[in-house]
Amino acid sequence: MALIVQKYGGTSVGSVERIRNVAKRIARYHREGHQLVVVVSAMSGETNRLLALAKELAPEPNPRELDVVAATGEQVTIGLLAIALEATGHKAKSYTGGQIRVLTDSAFTKARILSIDEDRIRTDLAAGIIVVVAGFQGVDSAGNITTLGRGGSDTSGVALAAALKADECQIYTDVDGVYTTDPRIVPEARRLDTVTFEEMLEMASLGSKVLQIRSVEFAGKYNVKLRVLSSFEDPESTSHGTLITFEEDDTMEQAIISGIAFNRDEAKISLMGVEDRPGIAYSIVGPIAAANVDVDMIVQNIGASGHTDFSFTVNRNEYQQALDVLAAERGKSFKAREIIGDKRICKVSVVGIGMRSHVGIASRMFKALADEGINIQMISTSEIKISVVIDEKYLELAVRVLHRAFELDTPPKAA
Ligand code: ADP
Ligand code: ASP
Ligand code: MG
Repeated sequence: MALIVQKYGGTSVGSVERIRNVAKRIARYHREGHQLVVVVSAMSGETNRLLALAKELAPEPNPRELDVVAATGEQVTIGLLAIALEATGHKAKSYTGGQIRVLTDSAFTKARILSIDEDRIRTDLAAGIIVVVAGFQGVDSAGNITTLGRGGSDTSGVALAAALKADECQIYTDVDGVYTTDPRIVPEARRLDTVTFEEMLEMASLGSKVLQIRSVEFAGKYNVKLRVLSSFEDPESTSHGTLITFEEDDTMEQAIISGIAFNRDEAKISLMGVEDRPGIAYSIVGPIAAANVDVDMIVQNIGASGHTDFSFTVNRNEYQQALDVLAAERGKSFKAREIIGDKRICKVSVVGIGMRSHVGIASRMFKALADEGINIQMISTSEIKISVVIDEKYLELAVRVLHRAFELDTPPKAA
């Protein structure tokens, strides 16, 4: 008997029929004698609909109230799934994040989980009850409803698996695993049987939305066995999806590049003609960080005649906030000739632990983009990834040519 946490995403619970299908799969595991905690997202499109309602009333709604509204989507699906399970003769009980005290910080719309009260869940499990928990939501220490950022139900699932020391956390979605890139963009993308934790962390952080980055972080921190699977396969199917592994398997054929990630949700801000002096980077990025806006890529040009240009990217949602912060600071902590913003950019990255032992990856990447006339605006590298910022209109082309350039559509040859 194992304790399994299953998480079902929005498309998987997108209709009554699909909820019924999800209930069948859960019932199968329950019949096999496993204890089950099930985390669900809102029905597909629902979170977008709720957020849009709020934005009809105010362009920048109060984040606390936005979370009150957004969290309702998951309350509907937990109730519906518990009803569907009971209809098939299984004991089930639904809980909101607040009811099992998924305690978070107070960063509304992107809160972090601090702890979960698992006692109640354990009592139910011991009584043979299937526990259904609302993903994406928690409460802060003052009792305010919080949400965990888009895609946050993945993190709810993994955090519960960590808190309960579950044997496995299964993330059910609308694809049957992690692919070499988003199969919606590149139909030839291949499913990976396994992907290392480090690669998954990079891919998630670079935009592969199949798993929210924080869910991967949690899995790494608490050693959660994490698997991505399809909810659309026959509930009796025993396919294995993609397992996130913590060790590199030397015996396996290893590709140099495992995947290509992309992110359309970024925006670039350039400060032209800032002074080239110690402390200038801090005087720009410091106030942005103080406003709780994440800065991603940063490029500072070589200075000339005491001045330089400084560019960085932020999430598009926080673009206006970042510009407002800079406007307020300009002339105080730094001077700039001009501040230019560009929302029509995207980031494309190649990821693979094989990069550690192979040279020439960057040149292969840059050549593939150059051959298509795609201009690179920013570059950043780490040990296992190379990212470039390009014009958003080239995103799909870039992903496709890189997929081909690194021969990701064919399985790696034996090392
Ligand atoms: P859910 O609603 O189940 O959480 P998401 O839409 O958040 O599902 O994530 C699944 C989607 O992630 C897939 O439909 C796919 O388009 C996208 N995706 C992006 N990159 C990848 C990848 N490397 N492998 C698989 N899916 C990916
Ligand atoms: N419903 C939330 C969203 O759409 C959380 C999730 O699906 O993971 O972002
Ligand atoms: Mg998701």
